[in-house]
Amino acid sequence: MKRITVFCGSQKGTKPHFAQKAAHLGKALAERNITVVYGGADLGLMGSVANGALNANGKVIGVLPEFLRTREIAHQSLTKLIIVESMHERKMKMNELSDGIIALPGGFGTLEELFEILTWVQLGLQNKPIGILNVDGYYDSLIDFIDTMIASGFLRAVDKELLIVRDSIEELLSAMDSYDLPDIKNKVEELG
Ligand code: AMP
Repeated sequence: MKRITVFCGSQKGTKPHFAQKAAHLGKALAERNITVVYGGADLGLMGSVANGALNANGKVIGVLPEFLRTREIAHQSLTKLIIVESMHERKMKMNELSDGIIALPGGFGTLEELFEILTWVQLGLQNKPIGILNVDGYYDSLIDFIDTMIASGFLRAVDKELLIVRDSIEELLSAMDSYDLPDIKNKVEELG
């Protein structure tokens, strides 16, 4: 992997550990010569990831919609800041630039970005490893809910394998490195 897109909160969250792990992830990516692609803001965990990578001399590409430039405060020291027109364009661009995705703790924005990519992979529109760094069990209840979706017949068990969930950065990156798309008959074929 040469570039990884990181989705994460525009807030720092209640535990200092969230921001620490975000900065560690940025540093770990920089040390592996992996460029960080993210939303371009200098706040919350987004700022922590970017600064963690930049402080370790890593490369960071931000993708920010024009209308969020003041609200999310564009990071001033990025390797590259790409300004786009809309949220949709932002997501497309972040996706186009990267060969892996990692979600850190975050809110609606983070989940929306994560689940849209998951559906793209599920539908066979693309194939890249999608990881969750489960800091302090933040995503435990979401994983439980995915089991509920499977038990209720709205997801297949194999769909869960599209998400690589780890609580250690090293383990997550190494699982993503050796990732093979699970043998899923994608939904398009299924419908056809
Ligand atoms: P949050 O997790 O809600 O703090 O949001 C994290 C980031 O996701 C912020 O930069 C939001 O602007 C961004 N975001 C929210 N919704 C979308 C969307 N539909 N497309 C792209 N980015 C989004």
